[in-house]
This record gives sequence, C-alpha cells and structure tokens, in this order.
Amino acid sequence: MAYDQKAQEHYRRELDAIRSAGLFKEERIIHDPQAVEIDVEFPAGEPVRRVINLCANNYLGLSSHPKVVAAAHAGLDRRGYGMSSVRFICGTQDVHRELERKLSGFLGTEDTLLFPSCMDANAGVFEALFSEADVLIADRLVHASIVDGMRLSKAAQDTFKHSDMEHLEEKLAEHLDKRFRVVVTDGVFSMDGDLARLDEIVALAEKYDAMVFVDDSHATGFMGATGRGSHEQTGVVGRIDLITTTLGKALGGASGGCVSGRAELVEMCRQRARPYLFSNSVPPVIVSAALAVLDLIGGSTARRDKLEENTRYWRGLLAEAGFDVKPGASPIVPVMLYNARLAQDFARGLFARGIYVVGFFFPVVAKGQARIRTQLSAAHDKAHLDRAIEAFVSVGRELGVLGLDRRQLIERFGP
Ligand SMILES: *Cc1c(COP(=O)(O)O)cnc(C)c1O
Repeated sequence: MAYDQKAQEHYRRELDAIRSAGLFKEERIIHDPQAVEIDVEFPAGEPVRRVINLCANNYLGLSSHPKVVAAAHAGLDRRGYGMSSVRFICGTQDVHRELERKLSGFLGTEDTLLFPSCMDANAGVFEALFSEADVLIADRLVHASIVDGMRLSKAAQDTFKHSDMEHLEEKLAEHLDKRFRVVVTDGVFSMDGDLARLDEIVALAEKYDAMVFVDDSHATGFMGATGRGSHEQTGVVGRIDLITTTLGKALGGASGGCVSGRAELVEMCRQRARPYLFSNSVPPVIVSAALAVLDLIGGSTARRDKLEENTRYWRGLLAEAGFDVKPGASPIVPVMLYNARLAQDFARGLFARGIYVVGFFFPVVAKGQARIRTQLSAAHDKAHLDRAIEAFVSVGRELGVLGLDRRQLIERFGP
C-alpha cells in the first residue's frame, strides 16, 4: 500500500506542527443564509450562537438579498441548473453573453470573459497572453491566485516593493529590452485593505510603454463614486488594459469571475485560457442573479455610500478605543496584533461575545503580521457596530492590548 504507516506518520506530524505553532485553521459552521447576523456552530458540536458577522466579503449586503435570490430562482426556471459543458462546446447561453456585455459596461472596458472563479481568471490570463519575450512585474503583496497564475506563464517574472513607485520605475527601466512589460497589482489589497496607486502606475506604464493588470476583486461594486472599482477611485477608468474580478464578493457572493479589458486581449483569453477552455461554465442561476446585481447597483449608489459611511464609523470607533488599525479607505479594516496565537485568542474571545471575526496569520499573511481582519457591509447598521466595539473593548482589556502600538504589542506577546 502506498499510503503506508510512514506516509501517515509524516502527515500527522505536519498537522501537529501546524497545531502547536498556533496556525491551525478550523471551520465554523453556519446554519442559515449569509448575512450580517448569522447562526454559527463553533467549535463543531457546540450549540449554534447568533453572532454579528464582520468577516464576510458581503460588502454590499447582496449575498442573500431578496431581489438577488428571486433573480436566481427565475434564472433557474428559465435557463436550467447546469450547462454540462465548457463554454466553447455547448456551455454558452444568451445570459452569459448578456452578463459579459453588462460587466464591460460597468467596468468601462471593451470586452469581458467569464471564468468559473477569479482564481481561474488569474490562472488563465498570464499564460494565455504572455511568453518568454515578456516580463510580469508584480507588487509584492498581490493575491495568492495571481502568484499562482504568473507561475503558469512562460513570461519572465519580477516584483516591486509594495506600492513603491520608485522601485516600480527602476524595474520598468531595467526591463526595457523585453517585448511587453506588464505591471501586475491588486486594486485593493486583500489583507491590508489599502488601495493601489493606479494613477501613478498608469502614468509610469505610459512612460515606459507597459501594460497594466489589476485584480479588483476587493473593489468591484463599491470603490469609486459609482462603485466601478479602484480604477474609478483613482481616476483611470478606460486606462487599465486588463482587469480581473470576482462575482464571489460584493456582486452577490456566489462564485464566478472574469477577465475584462482590451478587446484583443480578452479574445485571446477566449481562444487560449485553460480554465475557460477546460472547466465548466458558470451556472445560469448565478449568471441570472449577477445580472440582477448589476441592475441593482447600476441604478443607485445608496449601497456603496452606506458601506463608506459604515467604514468611516467603524474606523473611528476602533481608533478611539486604542487599537492598532491599518490606515486606509476600503471596507477592509485590519486590527493588528502581530502574534498568531494572540490573534486566535482575540477571535475566540470575540466569538464568545457574539462577534464573528477570524484571526489571520501565516501563511495567509507574513509571519509576525497576525491580525483580525474586519470587513464592513452595507447591510450593517450602526447598532451592529456599536455592539461589536463593546465586545472588542472587552476582549482588548482582558488580553491587555488596548493603547499598545506595534512595538509594545510585539514586546509583550512576541512576533
Ligand atoms: C477573493 C479573491 C480572488 C478569488 O476570487 P474567487 O472568485 O473566489 O476565485 C482573487 N483575487 C483576489 C484579489 C481576491 O481577493
């Protein structure tokens, strides 16, 4: 038998090492639809508790919105459940094309191609478009799915220090011998919540004749005055060559992603991107609901406005209470604790007080950068956030972290 005692012992030891390093991740089981208040079973086997959710990517509160659910039901009735095919064989319906057109309109791009997920979009795009003659120059904090996607491409790879424009310029100059230079960045960075300096990146790209790729998964639907994304927020709509984004966060939160941008680049992905060619179509039920989501947010900025207001309010409460909060303007608000075990203890204490957050630590963030990542939703009310801050202060007092800066936290709890 190949999976013998030696193999089993190896994996048991690895799992024990993860546990004893305080890095073990446990699932919490939700017993109702995704929302800002949910019934959660944790640890497994314990009775469910009603908790306020501060860790979903449900930025616009649309994950279980009645209009979105109704559109999904209607889509299921009209176009069925599954496509039993990839897109290019017999997996493309009218609704898929309609959603691609609407996404192009919303993002301000020439064309869009749906993928089963944004992870798949990132896995396909670099390999399909770039070769040995080209170079991909990525911000050092890009999402794991971009790192993986870049690995699949034959293009040369380089990085620049996070949001460091001087370093990016050096790298662009260094690679002038390449056929194409591509600057690769997240729009909003998922762990820190900060916004890429896309206006400066676009200016540098023009100066050094480079293309710009932005993964806007944590921005599409709410960043910018009308929620188009980080390119709207930074005033560069129409000047980003490639955007990837997800339907799995603000836009209903089910699943699905896309590559959007210059017509020829998107068409090349339609011809060559492997997750598009070899993985199943996004199901019509999700496509139909996503169309309703774009109708909802295309007609009104009320949801993104409320989200912005909630974010400002929550940041104010945390700062006032004496937490070490990463600065930024996105609805991702990280409360820094630095030590992985402390972050887990903090999350456990909050859960006991009815607040659902998760401690993030290695390998999701760098070692010594553990944190509680809080995320706001347009569906939160001030009352939710007032209850949440009470719990944060109570746990913060118990664990002795209030009023401590980075150096003091690390001194007291270790990196
Ligand atoms: C969430 C996320 C993804 C993955 O999106 P899926 O559609 O769930 O695969 C990709 N990139 C970034 C930046 C993300 O935050």
